[in-house]
Amino acid sequence: MNKKEICSFCKRPESEAGPLINGPDGVKICAQCVEFCAMIFDNNEEEEQKSEGNALKLSELPKPEEIKKTLDEYVIGQDRAKITLSVAVYNHYKRILQKKKDSDGVEIQKSNVLLLGPTGVGKTYLASTLAKTLKVPFAISDATTLTEAGYVGEDVENILLRLIQAADFDVARAEQGIIYIDEIDKISRRSENRSITRDVSGEGVQQALLKILEGTVANVPPQGGRKHPNQEFIKIDTSNILFICGGAFDGISEIIEKRSGKQLIGYGATVQTKAEKEAAGALKNVEAHDLVKYGLIPELVGRMPMIVSLDPLDEDAFCRILSEPKNSLVKQYQKLFQMDGVTLELKPDAIREIARLAKERNTGARGLRAIMEGLMLEYMYSTPTDETISKITFTAEAVRGEKKAKITKKKS
Ligand code: ADP
Repeated sequence: MNKKEICSFCKRPESEAGPLINGPDGVKICAQCVEFCAMIFDNNEEEEQKSEGNALKLSELPKPEEIKKTLDEYVIGQDRAKITLSVAVYNHYKRILQKKKDSDGVEIQKSNVLLLGPTGVGKTYLASTLAKTLKVPFAISDATTLTEAGYVGEDVENILLRLIQAADFDVARAEQGIIYIDEIDKISRRSENRSITRDVSGEGVQQALLKILEGTVANVPPQGGRKHPNQEFIKIDTSNILFICGGAFDGISEIIEKRSGKQLIGYGATVQTKAEKEAAGALKNVEAHDLVKYGLIPELVGRMPMIVSLDPLDEDAFCRILSEPKNSLVKQYQKLFQMDGVTLELKPDAIREIARLAKERNTGARGLRAIMEGLMLEYMYSTPTDETISKITFTAEAVRGEKKAKITKKKS
């Protein structure tokens, strides 16, 4: 007897599905189901190619020396910090790769980094330059904006939201990212910057930070960002995120001084003499319990095993910062003038004078931009309309305001 022929996959009879292909053991398939299968195979292949394209490969990772080289192009000095960060980031990649493979039981733990140093010496700049060399998402946050959940201000989860945004809402990628938290010293127990109304001890915020540093599944409100389709909160596991924290820790020299019995002069103040420089160098010996004395909770300090202090910048460093980096301030202003057909020259004594003035301001390299802006303003205002100018030359006298900058006119 003739049994009714049906497609084994969609169960439609041959009269509806069209001719069927016979397989072994009486299995049959119709043309439409073959097409569906082809589509599934195509999609899978695409997905695989996509994830292979995004995947990190050990051979393609920037090596510590290469990461440092890129940092060298922009950031002057601070070799120890650069080396520490390069190694931390490289190990971070390795940890991610290792997690993907079947592990042999050896789990590489992350080493969050604490950058310590006076204002304007390049902590944030190092972190943001690092971001350029990275193949993982990167976000920068400021600890002073944080409050304990429930208080007015930013919740700690917002730090994670920034990273998720940097990863284009790909939470899996964000979970492998790097976060820089600036001004971590300002949430210490003894910090004056802390708002008393928000957090009496300063400890609440530290506890909240500790949670995400040591690894937790956090619920991040997607406010400000794209709506998450299914849930109200975005769930993110922070156990693989690398944290780099930075802070000035004003006054920590006294704590180190007391502990080591040595007098440190010059940290956070104007460092001029050789002796002072040497004293500031003793900061390199900062230890975890100095940070606890300063007001960070021990658990938080324990989560930042790599502590590195940045050197205060001296006049020579300022001169180099002005002219050497790829996008140095002098090069930036030269470019601006060049667009109006004008050459900008700063004589070596002018550069030295700007460095000296910046040193007086005691705001690190931040002072350089303010001084340059002040010097250039008048000329940036008038040169675009005066087509006869071909060159502007600054000497030390012009920087001090004793003379005007020398204007060279075009030969007519
Ligand atoms: P902080 O240590 O307070 O985080 P920043 O990194 O914000 O200081 O420094 C302020 C600015 O000064 C930077 O944006 C950068 O232009 C410049 N700067 C600071 N330190 C350096 C450095 N070591 N090399 C080059 N530029 C620097």
